[in-house]
Order: sequence, then structure tokens, then C-alpha cells
Amino acid sequence: MSLDVAWAQAWIRSSAQVLAEHRAELNTLDREIGDGDHGENMDRGFQAVLPKLDGLADGATPGDAFKTLASTLISTVGGAAGPLYGTAYLKAATAVTGVAELDGAAVVALLTAARDGIVLRGKAESGDKTMIDAWTPAVDAAEQAHAAGADPALVLAAAADAAEAGAVSTEPLVARKGRASYLGERAIGHRDPGAQSTALILRSGADAAAS
Ligand code: ADP
Ligand code: MG
Ligand code: MG
Repeated sequence: MSLDVAWAQAWIRSSAQVLAEHRAELNTLDREIGDGDHGENMDRGFQAVLPKLDGLADGATPGDAFKTLASTLISTVGGAAGPLYGTAYLKAATAVTGVAELDGAAVVALLTAARDGIVLRGKAESGDKTMIDAWTPAVDAAEQAHAAGADPALVLAAAADAAEAGAVSTEPLVARKGRASYLGERAIGHRDPGAQSTALILRSGADAAAS
């Protein structure tokens, strides 16, 4: 489908469904190196936005949908992930303000703004074993796919592939940000839950665009 407001709504709805399906798995990842609530946090925030999606005004744009999601996550999700994802969607929304249909360049701008927002808020660098280790490879892959002439759906698919690899790449790392950083070497061998939720969310966006 074209990347219009219907796509943004489909992306958010399918993210909510996928996060609900993976709630226990994300909790388990977070139990190993955190406090066990990441699946619960993400599920709560994305379920809370669903009723609001239907209330978007006529003529709403993808940015309006992402802005609604951002404010819902910030107000309903405690802990690290709420403000981080909330900032990501707020910056993503701002990057595509007023754009009715995203092209490849807009997809790259959206992903870049989301990643930059998370960095601004959480100050994590690549290799710190956070969601940034999924987001930054996703941004890089999206840029490359766009430069190679991929259409917007394929730009998103490239981002999703890279985010999945990025989530796996957190397993051997020691954490330098968030709760997992308290564990030192005991975090080694465990996948970062926020990197995993990022991979799930970006795959949902790519799948919504491909359908
Ligand atoms: P909490 O740790 O408050 O319980 P969650 O469990 O919902 O919050 O989210 C944990 C995830 O947040 C981690 O797996 C990591 O990906 C991400 N995270 C934590 N701190 C940071 C940070 N400073 N920068 C980027 N991501 C972070
Ligand atoms: Mg947690
Ligand atoms: Mg918590």
C-alpha cells in the first residue's frame, strides 16, 4: 500500500498485536537483564492508543497518527521505554509533518528522526546494548536501500531486516545504559529487550507497507 495515514494506522495496530503476542517473550528477556516488565510496558502503551486511532480527523496524515501514539506512550508507559519510544514517535511525526504520503526519502527521515530522538533522550551509543543497537543499523540500511533506488516498502523491509540482526547483535554485549548496566558481565549472552521490541515494531511497519 502507499505509505499514507491508513498505512500508519495499520502499522500501529499491527505493532499492538505483535507486541501483545510477544509480551511474555519480552518480559522474559527483561527478567534476565532488567526488571521483567518490558513486554507489559509495550503492550499497555500500544493497547491504549488503539481507540484513539479511530478518532483521527479527516485529512489526518501519518504524522498525526505517530503524534497520537507518542503522547499515549509518554502518558501510559512508565519506565525507560515509554519516554524513549514516545520521543522517537514524536520526532518521527515532526520529521513528516503535513506529508500525506511518504516516499523513500521520507521513510529515511522518519527513521533517522526516531533514532536521533532516542539518543537525545537516553544518550546511548552504538554497542551500549540498548534499542539503539537495533535502530541505528535500521537507519543505515534504510539509507542504503533508498540510495540504491528501493521503493518505500523495500526501504522499510531493509530497516526491519537490519533491526532484527541488530537485536541479535546485542547478545554478547555488556550493557552501558539502563538497568542491564547494573549487571556488568552477567548481561552477556542475553538479548536486549528494547532492541527486540524495536525489531518487532519495524517488521510490523514493513509488513503493513507490503500488504
Ligand atoms: P525499565 O528498564 O524502566 O523497566 P523497560 O523494561 O520498558 O523499562 O525498557 C528497557 C529497555 O529500554 C532496554 O532493553 C533498552 O533497550 C532501553 N533503554 C534503557 N535505557 C536506555 C537508554 N539510555 N537509551 C536507549 N535505550 C535505553
Ligand atoms: Mg523493564
Ligand atoms: Mg520497569
